[in-house]
Amino acid sequence: MATKQTETVKQLTYLAGALKAPRILEAAGRLAEQARAAGWSFEDYLAAVLEREVSARNASGARLRIRAAGFPAVKTIEDFDWDQQSAVRQQVASLASGAFLLEARNVVLLGPPGTGKTHLATALGVIAAHQGQRVLFATATEWVTRLSDAHRQGRLPQELARLRRYGLIIVDEVGYLPFEQDSANLFFQLVSSRYEHASLVLTSNLPFSGWGTVFGDQVVAAAMIDRIVHHAEVITLKGASYRLRGRGIDSLPSTRSDITNPAG
Ligand code: ADP
Ligand code: MG
Repeated sequence: MATKQTETVKQLTYLAGALKAPRILEAAGRLAEQARAAGWSFEDYLAAVLEREVSARNASGARLRIRAAGFPAVKTIEDFDWDQQSAVRQQVASLASGAFLLEARNVVLLGPPGTGKTHLATALGVIAAHQGQRVLFATATEWVTRLSDAHRQGRLPQELARLRRYGLIIVDEVGYLPFEQDSANLFFQLVSSRYEHASLVLTSNLPFSGWGTVFGDQVVAAAMIDRIVHHAEVITLKGASYRLRGRGIDSLPSTRSDITNPAG
């Protein structure tokens, strides 16, 4: 009996190695005791062993995808404090299932500096990574640099095709810097190439009405917003900067272009 056990363990060691699933070996022994004690069926036992391997694989895959995404800092929905942003809590919660990724829907986070746009964009990226999607995060300026480089080297179509294999692309800080005409066109191509195909998450400190100035052209901006918003969740964050909480600073200089009287 003992000899037979040892033979089986040897065989399991070999089989787990051949499958490149080393955790099966560890789970098999541990779960066998539990299975005997609780009288599990063979099927229940097999499912439990395989389940350990699959969830361990998913977790290490997610870790790799999170590292590869290039987030400035890893943030999650669980870290987010809803006190200041209770108005959008439901809206964000409905995105946390990740269903928007399967439907190639976009998310646009708007609001003044420090209200948590980058935090929530990153948190959605982390959710996507856990769901097996590849994710890339960069600022609008960095995206434009990347696309211009590809364009200059004559490989823009290849680059756009490569990016389409990412389930989620995050464009942070649209509007912090205005684009040149060429850059605006490249950015438009990125948006078009993902339209109804794969998701984008964008953040901006400007309302859509200010995007014409960013893209240097009202027509390009309108065509872009049209594609982005057609299947999108638009989340508007409000309030004072989380960074300045408790520092006796109530608000930052306004970014609203419609304010002409600084004293008002
Ligand atoms: P934005 O991109 O809107 O300028 P960030 O998302 O970068 O703002 O937020 C600034 C900092 O404050 C980050 O460290 C972020 O994690 C934190 N932060 C902002 N809002 C919240 C919040 N509601 N709960 C927890 N942390 C927050
Ligand atoms: Mg930000």
